[in-house]
Amino acid sequence: MKTIGMLGGMSWESTATYYRILNEGIKSALGGFHSARIAMVSVDFDEMEKLQHTGGWEQMARLLGAAAKSVEAAGADFLLICTNTMHKVAPQIDQAISIPLLHIADATAEQLVRDRISCVGLLGTQFTMEQDFYKRRLTEKFGIKVVIPDAGDRELVHEVIYDELCMGKITDNSRSSYLHIIDKLKQHGAEAVVLGCTEIALLVQQAHTPVPLYDTTEIHAQQAIRYALGD
Ligand code: GLU
Repeated sequence: MKTIGMLGGMSWESTATYYRILNEGIKSALGGFHSARIAMVSVDFDEMEKLQHTGGWEQMARLLGAAAKSVEAAGADFLLICTNTMHKVAPQIDQAISIPLLHIADATAEQLVRDRISCVGLLGTQFTMEQDFYKRRLTEKFGIKVVIPDAGDRELVHEVIYDELCMGKITDNSRSSYLHIIDKLKQHGAEAVVLGCTEIALLVQQAHTPVPLYDTTEIHAQQAIRYALGD
């Protein structure tokens, strides 16, 4: 079994989900007392959140590149960046290490392609929904069309992520707002909706809506389990 490298803490609420899925997956594959081999660096999200909202992406690329090197030095065979947003600096992080990086958008897109989905709605932080680093990868590398919410809805989705989900706060009110936005994405042609933020599944799950949901945390972690087991 390979050692899974995790760059976590962004936020720790979703890193905890990754940790659980990885261990459950290895246990269910190998049985007994088996659990995942993991090397993790978990950052202080306060520093990251401030840099994100003041445009300090180059500094974050340096900090996360150094953190990724530590994960490699701790014995990881490959790396997961446990957040969609910070894949904005995935190329710089990838350059800092010599182990493979499993990109969260690629893992998700590969699943969409397997399921023959060609147009998706995307929910995530405003950085993920509005900038090119994520959407363009889905479109140019995988031929998947991406629909995003309107400006007001993007602001709401973003604020709920930072003010509630990253704080461990789950409310019925925000769930209703998200479900309404998911319905609107469907009306705009989305065959499915990508939960492109690793905390969203804490709020909205498949049981809440008939619209097919693609939870990036689950998909990314499941890919890591297969990779760790050499499949
Ligand atoms: N975990 C979130 C994501 O997947 C948002 C928090 C962050 O900005 O890292 O994008």
